[in-house]
Amino acid sequence: MQRQNFQVTCAIGISTWPYNGDEATLLLQSADLAMYHVKHLDSNEVHYQFYEEKMLVNSQRTLEVQQHLRNAIAENELYLVLQPQFSLDDSQALCGAEVLLRWQSKKLGLVSPAEFIPIAEKSGLILTISAWVLEQSCRLIKQLQEQFSNFPRVSVNLSGDEISVGLAKRINTQLTAFGLSSQSIMLEITEAQLVKFNDQVTSEIDQLRRQGVRISLDDFGTGYSSMSYLSSLRFDEIKIDRTFITKISTDKKILLLVKAIVSMAQALECKIVVEGVETTEELDCLTNMGIDVLQGYLFGKPMPCEKLVAHLNSGKYKILESSFNI
Ligand code: C2E
Ligand code: CA
Ligand code: CA
Repeated sequence: MQRQNFQVTCAIGISTWPYNGDEATLLLQSADLAMYHVKHLDSNEVHYQFYEEKMLVNSQRTLEVQQHLRNAIAENELYLVLQPQFSLDDSQALCGAEVLLRWQSKKLGLVSPAEFIPIAEKSGLILTISAWVLEQSCRLIKQLQEQFSNFPRVSVNLSGDEISVGLAKRINTQLTAFGLSSQSIMLEITEAQLVKFNDQVTSEIDQLRRQGVRISLDDFGTGYSSMSYLSSLRFDEIKIDRTFITKISTDKKILLLVKAIVSMAQALECKIVVEGVETTEELDCLTNMGIDVLQGYLFGKPMPCEKLVAHLNSGKYKILESSFNI
């Protein structure tokens, strides 16, 4: 038999008597909840966590969200919105859009994707949801291209579990089904997802790029990823995270950091997108820095496809000439 190395990690949940329960079952349940709180942390260190009351509230909410999310597609509760992106040149024309998922639950009201996507990921529901998002996104792109032949590329967010063997095939199947070119779509991968990449996943991404599908590195600056990923994987675009942009007009160090990220992205021949631009002060700081694309409430909030079409028809938005190249 071949010898193998196993890495053993340890997660400890702690509850105290009588504060977290006056009988053994309750104390064990509380310790269990506390243990699950630290179990998912990716590290070789021993982690421990004392039970806190909010953990019970959180776990009840998670269960509720998970339960209703199971039926969200069948109940027609999911829909997509588009957030426009504009070029930072004199034209300030529309050069792309990001597809964002929305869930209007009959039971829970409007639930933020920031809340339900992580729950969908933990419960395995994400694969069904992601497949739905990809198909519906392709349908939207087709509709937009039928109305505006030069409609720019549309970005779709990928979840971690989706980035696996077979990704390139799944994307191609959908593009072919809707008769779309590979330049019509850009895939967004967050920086935090990179640490989980292995050779097989890297080759899926390479295959997609060879076929002409562009890849964007989302939430850049928040994922603590090693710079070595940037030398081994090619990206077409880097999206500087909103947390930098909100501080850019008040914090000199952040301004310098953003400048450094821009030079690095330029050296790697990546386009640079800034997301979450909300004020003219932020925009002033970002102008003349070498940034290519702007996204944020200052220019347009995520909106239904019909509203985007209305803005294009009324002339409020103009499509960038040759925007497929952005
Ligand atoms: P993200 O990919 O970083 O998306 C950008 C988020 O920032 C969106 O929130 C957008 O509405 C918000 N945003 C854009 N401009 C501004 C601004 O100027 N100010 C502020 N305060 N916010 C701005 P949203 O739609 O709530 O999405 C949150 C996250 O949920 C996304 O972050 C993404 O990680 C995830 N998500 C959304 N849709 C999908 C999807 O279809 N698939 C997957 N896997 N994840 C998705
Ligand atoms: Ca994104
Ligand atoms: Ca982002």
